[in-house]
Amino acid sequence: MKSTYALIDCNNFFASCERLFRPELENQPVVVLSSNDGCAVSRSQEAKDLGIPMGAPHFKYRDFFKRHGVVAFSANFELYGDISERITNLLASITPRIEVYSVDESFLDLSELNIADYQAWGSVVRASVLKNVGVPVSIGISTSKTLAKLASDRAKKTPTLHGVLGLTVQGTTTDHYLNQVPVHDIWGVGWKLTPKLKAEGIHTALDLRQMNLRQAQQLMGIHGRQLHDELNGVTCLPLQHSHKPQQMIMRGRQFGEDTREFYVIESAIASLSARAAAALRREHQLARRAVVVLRTNRHRPGYQQASESVRFYTPTADTGAITSQLIRMLASNFNGRLEYHRADVLLCDFVPESGMQTDLFGTVNLPESDRSSARMRAVDTVNLRHGKGTLKFAAETLSQSWQPRKRLNSPRYTSAWDELPEVRLL
Ligand SMILES: [Mg+2]
Repeated sequence: MKSTYALIDCNNFFASCERLFRPELENQPVVVLSSNDGCAVSRSQEAKDLGIPMGAPHFKYRDFFKRHGVVAFSANFELYGDISERITNLLASITPRIEVYSVDESFLDLSELNIADYQAWGSVVRASVLKNVGVPVSIGISTSKTLAKLASDRAKKTPTLHGVLGLTVQGTTTDHYLNQVPVHDIWGVGWKLTPKLKAEGIHTALDLRQMNLRQAQQLMGIHGRQLHDELNGVTCLPLQHSHKPQQMIMRGRQFGEDTREFYVIESAIASLSARAAAALRREHQLARRAVVVLRTNRHRPGYQQASESVRFYTPTADTGAITSQLIRMLASNFNGRLEYHRADVLLCDFVPESGMQTDLFGTVNLPESDRSSARMRAVDTVNLRHGKGTLKFAAETLSQSWQPRKRLNSPRYTSAWDELPEVRLL
């Protein structure tokens, strides 16, 4: 039996999330800016139609935004993450065979669902996401993931399709759409392959699909063979629906303003390691190593970076243990003459939480480790119930000046009690 996949892709995801609680912005140009309000990372269709490119620097476009009534937001990743999870949960209720590909894209394997009319199915799913979460999506359906992705992209860019496109393997409609897609827009064709393909006269997805299989393999190796097969509806990339355990966890921030003050950096490191450690606990892992990296501004002369690494004999996910060790290491080698611009905390060399009992050499202090995990469980429970950051380590509150500048931020409508949207009944 042939496989069938759907790709569900949220349209202009961050901008759509911002509109959810500001319905008056429907049909208005909306732009979401990267951290420190640097450049545009998401644009509503109206903003795209005004010619605002991806990555447009905010300082250059400020007047343009004003003239054209473009509403700009600082990125509110907490909101986007929460909305993304709601969409994933809804899709996972259709079938457990789901691959969450990115924050705004998921593949579903429909092979075992007995769907008679894919176009109708897609329309129902689209309407359901719109009604239950409020985000418009584009849905592509076909017999390989590459074709499904290509179909969802066509569905997004072709208004008459109303957000859904099913592509059969053969047929003039399929050829018609494949002919519209330049090779560099095909999933898996990067900037490296594009010039190679163009030199061979392969300009569109249709050209690539009709190319001789042997020639595709000669030009691009095994990857070319896979691409060719996938475009011909033969599945080479199965669904990756099992959650892969992470190999490392990193949390970093570019500071709102550069700093030489140790207490400001201490506060940043404490917050970043609290976030990294919480992510580690969600993965049910313990770290044997933590690394902290401080950098000056790389666009200024005299760029420098300093890093310190700590090894834990008792693997840990304890925010206090990780933070205090990193700060101690940093303090002993701190150069107060440099203006620091960015900090990153990295946790790695993981062991599963459940593996702690099997300590061969007796280096692990089990009673202390149990107390630590009970303490962290209590912190996580409180923060889950009452909102992130309700309970935190004192070092996190030493300074706020390192926090990225967010002058245009929207409330965390769905994940912070005191930022819930208010409804007035008159
Ligand atoms: Mg998208």
